[in-house]
Amino acid sequence: MFKRARLQLTAWYACVFTAILLVIGTLAYVTIRRDLDDEINASLEAAMSGVEQGLVQLDPRSPFFPFARERSDDEHDDDSDDHEPGDRQPPGLSSDVFYVTTLNGKVIANPRRVDLEGVDIETLEEGAADGEKYTDVSGEHHRFRILSQPGPEGMYVHVGRALDARDRQLRTLVMVLGVGGLAGLTLSTVGGFWLAGRTLSPIKRSLEMQRRFVSDASHELRTPIATVKANNELLLRHQGQTVEENLDQVEAIATEADHMARLVGDLLTLARADEGRLEIEKERLDLGEMVSELVRDVQPLAEARGVGLACEAAAALVDGDRARLRQLALVLVDNAVKYTPPGGKVTVRVRRAGRKVELTVSDTGPGIAPEHHERIFERFYRVDTSRARRDGGTGLGLPIARWIAEVHGGQIHVDSAPGRGATFTVRLPGAP
Ligand code: ADP
Repeated sequence: MFKRARLQLTAWYACVFTAILLVIGTLAYVTIRRDLDDEINASLEAAMSGVEQGLVQLDPRSPFFPFARERSDDEHDDDSDDHEPGDRQPPGLSSDVFYVTTLNGKVIANPRRVDLEGVDIETLEEGAADGEKYTDVSGEHHRFRILSQPGPEGMYVHVGRALDARDRQLRTLVMVLGVGGLAGLTLSTVGGFWLAGRTLSPIKRSLEMQRRFVSDASHELRTPIATVKANNELLLRHQGQTVEENLDQVEAIATEADHMARLVGDLLTLARADEGRLEIEKERLDLGEMVSELVRDVQPLAEARGVGLACEAAAALVDGDRARLRQLALVLVDNAVKYTPPGGKVTVRVRRAGRKVELTVSDTGPGIAPEHHERIFERFYRVDTSRARRDGGTGLGLPIARWIAEVHGGQIHVDSAPGRGATFTVRLPGAP
């Protein structure tokens, strides 16, 4: 599923990139071609206006054809023979422009000896019969843009420019855009594939976590449901008997129902925390006082189990959610009392440590091997599964405790070794 999504995302990146490239490429091509054409057309206009202003004459027999020239008398005497026809241009005229005069489809003057082979002169003349006309024509060897205009005595005057340089520039532009675009597209596709992978991997991880969470939760619920069902069937078989006679089954059902209620409550807390829907209502409170109260409440339970419970709590102000912080302390104290064998001791401390407030819960229980230190904060992880479940644990206490610590800007960690008890420490930012 993720592989397909990744490929689809990459395809989208590539499509968007191609569309952007096409728009930019077309814009660049159209703009540059228009600029080149404007320059060519302007030079042809200027040349044709030379004809209109009489700077250019159409008589090919004139020694100065195609340029009219006001000649002084001296020049008449000296220069007339060695003058090269067509070697002078009206001022400001592009040197690429040439003049050609035609009559009845035949070239009668081509002073620059432009290679017009293959150019259909008749079509040019027909086009210009009614006035000025631009035509792009192809000859055997060159392409030209020609501006034609009718002249006197059935003649036509044409000013033209080869389009070879312009075509070459446009071809180069298309090539650069094509090669650059293709390289960009390849890079963007590879980059897009990598980016899609990076974007999808946290989603993939969180979906996998979610899936595992749901399957673990279902697994956790299966045992109590099976116990309830089995005991219920037993009760149904003994319909004639009193509740006292089946007290074991009734108690088992009640215990499992309690366990399920706790499990569902914890699941809901974590599911809401994951969604960010769990509100934290902060107030200034004395953690020391709150923990002392909690220890007093748990004292009867500890006594019943034969575990000594001591509290050394100094006043320590924090900004936090009272109910959540109590829940955090309760998870730690409850675990300590639960896992410490009779005759053992649990000590709860609250103190200020610089700008932090520290809550520690130490016990003289079995301790936890280092390889489990990180994992016990994972959902449903238990060092001894059957024992923990027998003690009514859901395997969600420490994950909830960690979430509460972190949502208050604090951390939680365990310090323990097998046979040497365990100390859980929570560090929270102290109120100023
Ligand atoms: P549970 O509901 O099973 O207690 P927790 O998330 O609170 O779930 O704890 C996870 C596991 O960490 C427990 O199953 C137990 O194996 C271990 N653990 C927690 N606290 C202690 C402790 N004080 N001493 C020894 N083991 C502990």
